[in-house]
Amino acid sequence: MLKAENVSRKYFRNRIGANCFEAVHPASLELESGTLTLLQGRSGSGKTTLLHMLAGLLNPTDGKVLLEQQDLYSLPDPELSRLRNEKISVIPQGRSAVDSLTVMENILLPARLYGKKQDEEVVEQWLDILGIADLKDVMPSELSGGELRRMAIARSLHQNAEVILADEPTGDLDNENTEKVLELLRQAAGRGCAVLVVSHEECAAEYADRILRMDAGTLLSP
Ligand code: ADP
Ligand code: MG
Repeated sequence: MLKAENVSRKYFRNRIGANCFEAVHPASLELESGTLTLLQGRSGSGKTTLLHMLAGLLNPTDGKVLLEQQDLYSLPDPELSRLRNEKISVIPQGRSAVDSLTVMENILLPARLYGKKQDEEVVEQWLDILGIADLKDVMPSELSGGELRRMAIARSLHQNAEVILADEPTGDLDNENTEKVLELLRQAAGRGCAVLVVSHEECAAEYADRILRMDAGTLLSP
């Protein structure tokens, strides 16, 4: 489904003696439909950088990312955006809410941008499952970290994409919600999605078909 071929990423750091360092050394992996891959590794080991390259959000310095044989970074920007909207859903590590929109509007935004059907009832079901149904008309500034995270998860699940890339999706959740979210991601794989989850949670391994590790920019073979 989604394949990285020898992708690497260098960053330039502007400090005295400006240098360039490789945050991800050439790495190859394939995310197959119907499977959940867990990616573990210490902070700073390059997990987010790799995930962003897979997502079409960050141009690799070298190498290719192929979505069903389509080379993502060979596409013009508008086409890549449309493809991402249709097929790749990202649960980012940081904040991702549009502050001027309500929770419901935030979740419907990906569909609205491309003139797709905006089904509030389906969104309400996701919010209900995630335990934040009563927050649908609230502004993001009024939400806690865990509620914002669950909003991002609802937005991703509602996008109904074939690929889900989740960057520490349970980082600010309690145990009960952590298990619920991992179960929902597992179910997405059960529906045929290709799912990648970056997580430090020990319990995450139970939900995974495969566990990969990154260490200082190197993706280790399982
Ligand atoms: P992880 O998600 O595993 O914590 P990251 O992919 O976020 O790791 O970061 C890997 C390394 O790249 C870190 O050393 C980080 O400081 C560096 N890095 C990340 N983003 C940038 C950037 N935009 N510019 C320069 N360095 C960056
Ligand atoms: Mg990270």
